[in-house]
Amino acid sequence: MNQLFINNQWVDAKDGVTYSLINPATEEEIANISNGNQEDCNVAVEAAHAAFQAWGKTTPYQRAAILKKAADYMRANLDVFAKDMVVESGKPLAEAKGEWTVAANLFEWYAEEAKRSYGKTIPTNRPDKRSSVIWQPMGVIGVITAWNFPAYNPARAWAAALAAGCTIVAKPSENTPLSAFHLAEALMKSGLPEGVVNVIVGDAAAIGEAMLQNPLLKKISFTGSTRVGKILMDGASKTYTKLSLELGGNAPVLIFDDVDVDALAKVTSIARFRNNGQVCIAPQRFYIHKNIYQQFCDTVTKHVSQLKVGNGFEEGVHVGPLITKKQKESVEKLLEETRQENANILTGGHTPENMQKGYFLQPAVVADLQQSSVLAKQEIFGPVLPLFSFEDLEDAIVKANDTEYGLAAYVFTNNLKTAIHASERLEFGIIGINEWAPHGTESPFGGWKQSGQGHESGSEGMYEYMEKKLISIGGL
Ligand code: ADP
Repeated sequence: MNQLFINNQWVDAKDGVTYSLINPATEEEIANISNGNQEDCNVAVEAAHAAFQAWGKTTPYQRAAILKKAADYMRANLDVFAKDMVVESGKPLAEAKGEWTVAANLFEWYAEEAKRSYGKTIPTNRPDKRSSVIWQPMGVIGVITAWNFPAYNPARAWAAALAAGCTIVAKPSENTPLSAFHLAEALMKSGLPEGVVNVIVGDAAAIGEAMLQNPLLKKISFTGSTRVGKILMDGASKTYTKLSLELGGNAPVLIFDDVDVDALAKVTSIARFRNNGQVCIAPQRFYIHKNIYQQFCDTVTKHVSQLKVGNGFEEGVHVGPLITKKQKESVEKLLEETRQENANILTGGHTPENMQKGYFLQPAVVADLQQSSVLAKQEIFGPVLPLFSFEDLEDAIVKANDTEYGLAAYVFTNNLKTAIHASERLEFGIIGINEWAPHGTESPFGGWKQSGQGHESGSEGMYEYMEKKLISIGGL
């Protein structure tokens, strides 16, 4: 099952090339994976286009039955699937199991939502005219996803697109193809007709370009960096391929001085380092009210220095390796730049002792940062917790909004007025008030500014893959 998945068959790349998939915790080879390119992509698009002719005409009830079965298959195979996710991504086993549970929930939820794509009728100003609006599936969708959530990222788009009646050519990250292969397996075992979902990995730029160039492919749903999002926007400006983009983030966290500082500092140490900080909605810029700044710094540092770093299979591990050597080096470079800014690294930031193999980095806390710091400007995507301070609500809002990103923001306060004013003035698509998990299967997930366009999850997620059609009948 290390090959491309086209027309419900596991096949080699046309040119027979493979690449070596590496376990980030051990740097050992996990498997040889077929390395697809544009030719394979075009074969997959043609398969998806042929499949759409029938799949697009199925009733939502027929589609729902398959999606629900696939959700059950994922739950039944959760242990095996989660182990493969740990091997390819490095994340702790408990996080991998949680992610597969959410992936299954997405398929079940969209199985139900498929039946609710209601249209509407519109009263007209002429007695001999009737207007109505219906929703129809777009056709073949390209789904390009990042490695940080190897099952959740593709599941979110696949489940919504399949519920809408679309067919799919998916390109998961080369770093984490195994989870996407398991998703395909779950769907195939649940009766998905051939060609409805196809999975290719390999030369990302070539496959992305082939998706843009192929007129049979109607839309690309992309989860990844703002950098690649812009490449796709450039390409789409020539081909008019539609795009949904879920891009980078740089989430501020506003902590006011009426909170239980010690309790919040403790949960912060877990929330910030979930998936090693490699999360687009990861809380990144911590703005702490000046009255509690020192206390918060001391307590959070104590908890972060106690986090257990190690192989995701080890009991009690909080933080696994980073995904690649390159990712580790990019976080180390940011830390080096903050040293030059004279920031204070209170703990971590180095390779843990006796962990020379694997891309491990000791979780870091950095204090006394200025708004001009590189840690305020750039998305870190790694185990670093930067601490800034603020004077009052006004100061906090200005600093929080001072970014090109607009995905998620967090506010911690027991003052209702502060919570409401802050949530309404923050320029972000997702706001968590007194919580770290503001997203949900049933809720719209999308970014403002350079964090993206369009929405995933919730009913909005399904309409991303449908076209609205006005039907007007005259001469009645
Ligand atoms: P991340 O750094 O989070 O992996 P990327 O944006 O680099 O974010 O990758 C997200 C997805 O985009 C991956 O599946 C990757 O292979 C793919 N990708 C990378 N470069 C391109 C490109 N030029 N065109 C299309 N997809 C690309």
